[in-house]
Amino acid sequence: MKTVKINALENNVRMSTQSLLQLIEEKIEEGYTDFEINACGQHDIGGSAWSRKDGKELNFTITNPGQRVGAMARKGTNIYVNGSVPADVGWLNSGAKIIVNGDCGDTAAHCAASGKIYVSGRVGTRSGALMKFDPKFEIPQFWVLKNTGSFSFEFMGGGIAVICGYDCAGLKSVLGNRSCVGMVGGTIYCRGPIKGIASCVKVEKLNKEDKAFLTSGMKEFLSSIDKKGLADTLLDFSEWHKITPIAPDEKQKRISVKEFRETQWVEGGIFGDFIQDDLNVFDLVTTGVGRLQTPCWEKNLCINCELCLKNCPNNAITKDENNNYSSDDNKCIGCSICSVVCPKKAWTMKNNNKEIS
Ligand code: SF4
Ligand code: SF4
Repeated sequence: MKTVKINALENNVRMSTQSLLQLIEEKIEEGYTDFEINACGQHDIGGSAWSRKDGKELNFTITNPGQRVGAMARKGTNIYVNGSVPADVGWLNSGAKIIVNGDCGDTAAHCAASGKIYVSGRVGTRSGALMKFDPKFEIPQFWVLKNTGSFSFEFMGGGIAVICGYDCAGLKSVLGNRSCVGMVGGTIYCRGPIKGIASCVKVEKLNKEDKAFLTSGMKEFLSSIDKKGLADTLLDFSEWHKITPIAPDEKQKRISVKEFRETQWVEGGIFGDFIQDDLNVFDLVTTGVGRLQTPCWEKNLCINCELCLKNCPNNAITKDENNNYSSDDNKCIGCSICSVVCPKKAWTMKNNNKEIS
């Protein structure tokens, strides 16, 4: 172990971020593995650094850093920040262990893809947004002792977040407001009240596996932030919830395009507030013999998924009691959507050899 101390503010002269990062690179080349950095708001400390010679682990102890501490940091990097950090700590973390002994600004753990981020305080808005998981790497974990700001975990695609809700008395929601919008993957465990989260997720009680995960993970988390004494409080599972995205097959049945246009798009249809329209496209687009192309259905290929029926913009497709599909020539406008959405190519479009004038 070879240690170097770097003071990024000397004689009232602040080292630039670029100079500091270059100095760290030089020291790594010289074989240093342990860095004690007294920063002055320099960005990206601890990120994208690795020992090219022998692949030894790198350890950073940092005070007073700027944004993106540990951004894109790799496996084998250990970062300890003594104090709070501004935005983007652990951005796109790629395997590092990052401990923040304080609060984090906005977008902590944003895009984190692997590794562990431990926070002993609160984290700001949009934290955990876009976290992801590639099964080729260790699953990213993001542990927070207190709470998150609003809009957190937006578009989360994978990974595990644990929000412990400690010291949050009086908060209406330990996830702020409007969190989890667009969440499609991953798991959030949180303790305490939650309000105003997106409708695309479900909130459940913990099962046996969830409790086992939290019990084992909590030990390392609390030990890393030097709060072992909170174990009994935080491992009382009575106030914990698990949040996961609602799977596609659990969602409400799809409605037809026509129904969507009539009931959901704009009340009364587009311009419905001043144009009375029955939402049919007759007389505006050619049907019947005037169509450029006509859909043809092949029964042997059809798996009865109803996608064509639901996506036809003019409700031209029907099916009978024997699951035979047909298209009404007087409604069909030859748009070919049925042939595009059909997963089995059961609809094909016959060209009517008409010229567009
Ligand atoms: S081509 Fe297919 S989707 Fe388009 S109107 Fe005709 S039946 Fe409906
Ligand atoms: S989309 Fe294709 S497979 Fe599905 S019901 Fe229609 S024709 Fe059949």
